[in-house]
Amino acid sequence: MSGIVGYIGWQNAIPILIDTLKRLEYRGYDSTGIAVIKDSSLGIRKRVGNIDVLKESLYNEPLNGMNGIGHTRWATHGKPTEENAHPHIAGKIAIVHNGIIENYLSLKESLLKEGRKFLSDTDTEVIAHLIDKNFTGNLENAVQKTLKEISGTYAIVAISPADPEKIVIARNENPIVIGLGRGEFFIASDASAILSYVKDIIFLDDGEIAVIKKEGVQVYDKNNRQVEKNIRRLGLNPILMEKGGYKHFILKEIFEQPRAIWDTVRGRVSGGDIIFEDFKLTDLDIKNIKKVFITGCGTSWHAGLIGKFMIEGISRIPVEVDISSELRYRNPIINSDTLIIAISESGETVDTIAAMRNGKKNGAKTVSICNTIESSLSRESGSTINIHAGPEISVASTKTFTSSLSALYILSVYLAKLKGVINDNETAGLINDIVAVMGKIEDVMGLEEEIEGLSKMFYEKKGFLYLGRGINYPVALEGAMKMKELSYIYAEGYPGGEMKHGPIALIDEHTPVIILAPKNSLYEKSLIDIEEVKARNGVVIVFATEGDTEVMKRARHVLYVPHASEYLFPIIMSIPLQFLAYYVALRRGLNVDRPRNLAKSVTVE
Ligand code: GLU
Repeated sequence: MSGIVGYIGWQNAIPILIDTLKRLEYRGYDSTGIAVIKDSSLGIRKRVGNIDVLKESLYNEPLNGMNGIGHTRWATHGKPTEENAHPHIAGKIAIVHNGIIENYLSLKESLLKEGRKFLSDTDTEVIAHLIDKNFTGNLENAVQKTLKEISGTYAIVAISPADPEKIVIARNENPIVIGLGRGEFFIASDASAILSYVKDIIFLDDGEIAVIKKEGVQVYDKNNRQVEKNIRRLGLNPILMEKGGYKHFILKEIFEQPRAIWDTVRGRVSGGDIIFEDFKLTDLDIKNIKKVFITGCGTSWHAGLIGKFMIEGISRIPVEVDISSELRYRNPIINSDTLIIAISESGETVDTIAAMRNGKKNGAKTVSICNTIESSLSRESGSTINIHAGPEISVASTKTFTSSLSALYILSVYLAKLKGVINDNETAGLINDIVAVMGKIEDVMGLEEEIEGLSKMFYEKKGFLYLGRGINYPVALEGAMKMKELSYIYAEGYPGGEMKHGPIALIDEHTPVIILAPKNSLYEKSLIDIEEVKARNGVVIVFATEGDTEVMKRARHVLYVPHASEYLFPIIMSIPLQFLAYYVALRRGLNVDRPRNLAKSVTVE
C-alpha cells in the first residue's frame, strides 16, 4: 500500500528520493521518511504528513548521500506518528517496508526477551531487528536469513552503513522494481515513479532478492541461486501524469473518459467483430465455461456487479459476483468449468490476487481486467485485458471504472459469440451500441455546469440516498461511494424496489434522493420510486433519458443524459454522479484528489 523508493549511484540521493516519493504519494500519505548513508553513518528524517512536510524539513536542515531509501506510509500497524513512520532502524540497519508481517508479535516477543528495544508499534520494526541480528558483515546474507523467519507480505528495501555500497531489496506479494541507469539505479514500488529517470526496468518476482550496487544488479531466488532477469523497456510518458491544465487530477480523469473508453475498445473491435489477441483461452475452453465468478474490491466490485448483468444477459452464462476479501475466505464451488474474472485497476490489490489464486488452484480459468501492465494480477492470470486508461492519479477511481465496464461489455460479447449464443448480426449490433455510446459520452460532459449548480443546493446536506434498479443499482452504489469518498457525506446506494424495506425511514425534507430512471424495461418502476420518495417529503433529483417529459412533471430537479442501450447505460450514468461528488466535495473545501484515510492501491488485507 505504501510507496517505497531507493537510489544508489553518483548523484545526491535526496532530491531523487523526494521526487520519486512525490509520484507515489497517491499510494499512502500519512507519514513519510528517508534514510541515506554518508561517510559510513546513517542520516534519517521522518515526518508526519505529506512529502512537502518532509521536503521542507530537508530544505531547512539538509542531508545528503548517494545511497538512500524513502517511504510514504499507509499505516496498518500503529498510528501515523513519527516513531511509526519508515525507515525503521535497528543497530546499523535501515529498512522501508510495504505490506504486513503476520508473525510479528511472536517475533517481537522473542526479540524483546533478547534485550532489543523497540521504538515503534509497527510490524515492520521486527524485520529491521532481525536483519541486524543476522548481520555479520554482509547485508544480503542477513536479509536472506531474515526472510526465512518472517511470514506475510512484503516489499523491503534495506541499507546499512556497515555494508555501505549496496541496497538489498526483497519481495513477497508486494511489487518492487529496479530502474537501470548508467552507474545509478532507481528502486520503486511502482515503475511510474521512476520513468522520468529510466526506461529499462527489472520486475522482481515473489521470493526473489536483489543486491544493487553502483556497478550492477544481481538477483537471487529463495534458494540463493542467481536468476537471469528480463529487462523490460517501458514507454509510459511521465508528462501524462501531470494535471494537463485541470484544477484537479480527478477532474482531468473524468474528462479523459471518452478517450480512456475508446482506448479500451479500440484494437479489439473491427469490422463488426471482436478480436481479443490478448485472450489466451481456446474456443473449446470458452464453450466449456459453465459458471463465471467476477471478483474485485470497491469500485471494481461495483464494475463486477454491472458485469453480471452484461454476461448473464448477453452471454447467457450464470455469474456470481463476490467481494475479493470475502471470496478468498469462503469455499465456493469452483472447478475447471469456471471462469474467474478478477478486476483491479492497479493489479496489485492483495485480496483480489488471493481470490484469483484460490480459484486457479481449483482449476478455474482466469482473466484479469487491469490498468497496469505487468502488474502482479495480470502476470498471474491466464489472460489479461489491459484497459489502457492511462495513469489514474486521483485516489477515487473514475475513468478506470467506466473503462472496466467497457472491457466487461466487449468480453461479454466475445464470450457470447464463441459460445454460439449470438450470431454475426447480433454481434455487430452489440458492437455498434458501444461505438454509439462513445460518441455520446462527450455530450454527457456538457452536464458539468448544471451539476455544479446543483451542488450549491446540496453540499451542506448530512446524507444522500441513491436509488437505481436492475443494472443501474450498482451504478447507485458507485455514485454513493464517490460521494462518501470525496465529500465525507454519508451516502447510501440502494435498489429502488427495496427502499421501502428500510431506507425509507431516512427520508425527510433534508434528504436528497438521487433516482436513476432511464427509459428502459424498469422505467415505470422507477416512477413509483419517485412518487414514494416525494410522498415522504424527500428532495428528488432524477437522472433521466433525453426526451422524457414524464419525469419533469414529477420531480423538480431532472438531469437528462443521452440514450444508450440497457447494458451500456451505466457508463453514461456514472459520469454525472462523478461530477456531483466532485463539486459537492469542492464546495466543502476538501482535498478531492487525496481524500483522507484512502489509498489508491490496496496491497494490504
Ligand atoms: N505494515 C507497515 C506499517 O504499518 C507498512 C504498511 C504500508 O505498507 O504502508 O507501517
